Amino acid sequence: MINRKETIMSKIEVMQGGRLSVPEHVTVPFVAGDGVGPEIMPAMQQVIDAAVAKAYGGRRKIEWMEVLAGGKAQERMGTSLPDETLAAFAEYHVGIKGPLMTPVGTGMRSLNVALRQQLDLFTCLRPVRWFNGVQSPVKHPEDVDMVVFRENTEDIYAGIEWEAGTDEARKFYTFLHDAMGVRKVRFPETSSFGVKPVSREGTERLVLAACRYALASGRKKVTLVHKGNIMKFTEGGFRRWGYEAARRAFPDELASGQLVVDDCIADAFLQNALLRPADYSVIATLNLNGDYISDMLAAMVGGIGISPGANINYDTGNAIFEATHGTAPDIAGKNVANPCSLILSACMMLEYMGWTEASQLVMAALERSFGEGCATADLSRFMPGGTALGTSAFADKLAMLVAGA
Ligand code: NAD
Repeated sequence: MINRKETIMSKIEVMQGGRLSVPEHVTVPFVAGDGVGPEIMPAMQQVIDAAVAKAYGGRRKIEWMEVLAGGKAQERMGTSLPDETLAAFAEYHVGIKGPLMTPVGTGMRSLNVALRQQLDLFTCLRPVRWFNGVQSPVKHPEDVDMVVFRENTEDIYAGIEWEAGTDEARKFYTFLHDAMGVRKVRFPETSSFGVKPVSREGTERLVLAACRYALASGRKKVTLVHKGNIMKFTEGGFRRWGYEAARRAFPDELASGQLVVDDCIADAFLQNALLRPADYSVIATLNLNGDYISDMLAAMVGGIGISPGANINYDTGNAIFEATHGTAPDIAGKNVANPCSLILSACMMLEYMGWTEASQLVMAALERSFGEGCATADLSRFMPGGTALGTSAFADKLAMLVAGA
């Protein structure tokens, strides 16, 4: 960890209700990440620093503090997720990370999942919007403007499952059969089993966070997306508890129409979102639905590789903003990686800290650059007359546009 002593005075404080008090010079811990991480991280920092300097005339500044995770941590500290890194994210509340590699088949847990679980970051927040100039598979990508609140800690993702043929699977089936009287398992001997916990508390904190976000951002409508028609107590519970929590917390806002809460069955939502995307604004959904939905919506705006994300606990204020793509080992070290996912995640971070003006400068620079056909090769090759810039040249271009705004 770098410069910890000097930066200790510039910590974000979390007030009652999760409200942040952000100092003018704020320390933000970051994990550069593996693969293309060390290329996109400095690109992001260059653009964000330029925007903060421009927006606040030097009054505000981010002091970036590197903390280690992934390959660099393994190499230097003998563990891929040091306790110090978790402690720094908890202590400084708001941080950002590049992609981290998850080795396949070694039994090592995903570092991303470990970070989310250990800091109880219960919302996976994924805003989805289109940028002019970016190729999209749908006719009206400009109608797609949604923010997905995906529950991050429960559902079938809790990791409670047993493989077919193991003693555990047999024991679990015996319990279902003998103690619970379950007769519906079609092929018990060859079935694997998974458990899907969905709680009232887990649902309420997510749905209330989505409602607060909708009210604060003037978005008005929150849609609960679920499969309660089939899974009556888990997904159906999410729907019922979600409505009840919203009615209890926001009776006046609901009565006046300032806030509208409705619901949609997940399969219908996937159709409707394609056919009538303008009908939806804030989506609150369970973990597995949220996984599919966020990627489908991102694909609709051509942004699967540039869509931003964050994992947030709105009660403790803790939040980690992140590039949503992986480490892209095939292009690492070639200065061609697109830094947009991380840059847009950093914009979300600025907005979360209340530094909206700086975020808007970056958004405007991105729009202008895409409008001119200037982007990294993954995007520019689909832009008529597009110019491919390397990662660092693209960052220079954005920083210049921001500074000249
Ligand atoms: P990936 O996202 O790394 O790559 C998929 C494709 O997209 C590749 O062709 C890659 O070149 C391209 N791509 C990704 N990011 C890009 C960028 N910024 N600019 C241009 N092109 C980009 O997915 P993968 O290959 O399945 O995974 C590689 C590693 O990343 C795995 O170890 C996986 O576990 C990890 N991963 C991490 C995260 C995370 O940290 N949030 C997310 C997904 C995957």
